[in-house]
Amino acid sequence: MPELTREKISLGEMRASGVRGLLIYCSDFQCSHWTTISADQWPDEVRLSDTEPRFTCQACGQRGADVRPNFGLGVRSTVPLG
Ligand SMILES: [Zn+2]
Repeated sequence: MPELTREKISLGEMRASGVRGLLIYCSDFQCSHWTTISADQWPDEVRLSDTEPRFTCQACGQRGADVRPNFGLGVRSTVPLG
């Protein structure tokens, strides 16, 4: 799946490959804070790069992030508890 190694893919393309989650990395490499979220809140036409400016690091306050597909997150693990 070479397309998923690029960051200009849309969320629809990502989900079509079975990936439902995103890895969010702080854009400050010295901070290196990261987290995982579900991509379900955005429509298919949104690209991963479009979501990057929306994030603010919870560790250092840096605006912007590096967003990548979370290959390790399956569909079922994105279902909220309760
Ligand atoms: Zn940070």
